[in-house]
Amino acid sequence: MATKRLAILFDIDGTLIISGDAGAASWRLAFQELYGIPADIGAFTDTGLTDPEVGRKTFVGVLKREPTAEEFTNLLDARLKHLHQTVIDSTGYRVLPGVAALLPKLLDEGYLLGLVTGNMEPAAHVKLHRAGLNRFFCFGGFGSDSEDRVTLTKVALERAALVYGAPLMPEQCIAVGDTPHDAEGAHGAGIACIGVASHNFTVDQLTAGGCDYVIPSLEEGWPL
Ligand SMILES: [Mg+2]
Repeated sequence: MATKRLAILFDIDGTLIISGDAGAASWRLAFQELYGIPADIGAFTDTGLTDPEVGRKTFVGVLKREPTAEEFTNLLDARLKHLHQTVIDSTGYRVLPGVAALLPKLLDEGYLLGLVTGNMEPAAHVKLHRAGLNRFFCFGGFGSDSEDRVTLTKVALERAALVYGAPLMPEQCIAVGDTPHDAEGAHGAGIACIGVASHNFTVDQLTAGGCDYVIPSLEEGWPL
């Protein structure tokens, strides 16, 4: 008999919610405030990168040098400050199909729900707050734990075990994400990944990208 899953680790952007332009706008305002340049993260990064990777690549792209540690901290702080307002102001913000029904159902079924996201921890909570979704998640691994998705996924698993009160085997955990980066992060940490084709990637692309299960949305075909 297959091992029962206990912990489910959700990515945020493109999996649970779309924040519209809120993320890009917050970076643009942070670079504008600190350097007088309305930097476009889309010109230097692709979807699924961690916040520190986005900040660093955009900094190098715009300023043509690496940031000092102090500059980088100031950039991340400024970005968080602006994100609070850009999420409130975003006209494109929405919760993705199936999320509102699935999360309470999974809690009722006894799963432990967590986050695994490239967002800095406060950015994750700011983005989920607008939709009232923070209450479903009792642990997580974040972009503020590591720039590297594999490492932050391992951190999420350690925290899941703390909440659970006992070690969790990899077969008891599974990640859910909307990009091949999510599958890479999950597999690097030794766990499987459900790909959700509700945003930038199609079912075929997520299958080719290594996801162990692929569903069109969180409304259809939940595999557990
Ligand atoms: Mg995502």
